Amino acid sequence: MENKDGWIWYDENFVPWREARVHVLTHTLHYGMGVFEGVRAYLTEQGTAIFRLQDHTKRLFDSARMLGITMPYTPEQMNAAQKEVLIKNKLDSAYIRPMIFYGAEGMGLHTKELKVHGIVAAWQWGAYLGEENMQRGISVKVSSIARYAVNTAMCRAKANGYYINSMLALQEAQQHGYDEALMLDVNGYLAEGSGENIFILSDGVIYTPELGCVLDGITRRTIIELATNELGMDVVEKKITRDEAYIADEVFFTGTAAEVAPVRKIDEHCIADGKRGPVTEKLQALYNDVVGGRNKKYQDYLTFI
Ligand code: PMP
Repeated sequence: MENKDGWIWYDENFVPWREARVHVLTHTLHYGMGVFEGVRAYLTEQGTAIFRLQDHTKRLFDSARMLGITMPYTPEQMNAAQKEVLIKNKLDSAYIRPMIFYGAEGMGLHTKELKVHGIVAAWQWGAYLGEENMQRGISVKVSSIARYAVNTAMCRAKANGYYINSMLALQEAQQHGYDEALMLDVNGYLAEGSGENIFILSDGVIYTPELGCVLDGITRRTIIELATNELGMDVVEKKITRDEAYIADEVFFTGTAAEVAPVRKIDEHCIADGKRGPVTEKLQALYNDVVGGRNKKYQDYLTFI
C-alpha cells in the first residue's frame, strides 16, 4: 500500500503518498487505541458521490467519544477532507479510510501528553469479497473466536485494536479454505463477520442479530430500510442461533467494503440450494441503485464532491 502515487490528507495537509509516515514509537501502533471508518464513493450520473458521509463521520466521532479520544478536527473538517482527498487523487470511485490515532509523544497506557492525529486516504478498491462471489456467494466458517462482549469492549466503536478479534477469525476461516468467518457472541448466538454484519431470511422474514456486541453497520441500516420500505418485508432484530442460519432460506453479509454479499455455505451446510437467493439478489440491486444514485428517493444519502 505504501508505494503508490497520490496524496494523503494528514493533519490538515496533503502529503505525498510515500511520505505519509509515523514514528515507530507511535502510541496507536503499540496499543491499538485509535478509531477509523471505511467509507465508499461511487460514480453516479451526476458525478462522484460519497455514500452516507455524515453517518460515517458521526460514527467516527461517536467511536472517539466512547474511547475518550478528543477529536482534533470538527465533523465539517473531516467531511471536507474526504471530499478533497478524492478530488486531489482524481478518484471517481473509491474506498475512503479516515483514521484518528495517538502520536509518539510518550509511552505507557495513559494518554495525557499524547497528540491526536488524523489521516484520510482513498484508493480504488473493487469487490472486497471477490467479484465472482457477489453472484456465486461466499463460504463462511463459524469461528472458534468469539466476538467481543459488551463488558469487555465498547462494541459500538470502530476501534483499531478491536480488529485483532476479526483478524483471528478471518485467519482461521481462510486457513480452513473458507472465504470469511462468522463470529458468534460469547453466548453462542450469531454476531457478525470479520468486517460485515449478517442477515438471514427464513419463511419470508429477514432477521439480523440485535445490536449489542455487533457493529452498528451503516450498510446494515441501509438494508433494513430498503427491505422494509422497498420490498415491504419484515426485518426483525433478535438473537439468532447457529442452527437457524444453517437452515435459513437465504443468508447474506453487508458492509461498506463487502456491500451485499450472498452466503452460499456456512461450515459444511449449503444454504438452501447453495446459490444466491432471490431476496439477496433484489437487495443487492436496490443497494447498487441507491449508492449509484439511480434511486432518487435516497438521494439525501449522497454527498457529491
Ligand atoms: N462489522 C464489522 C466488524 C465491520 O468492521 C464492519 C465494516 N465497517 C461492519 C460490520 C459493517 O459496517 P458498515 O456497513 O458500516 O461498513
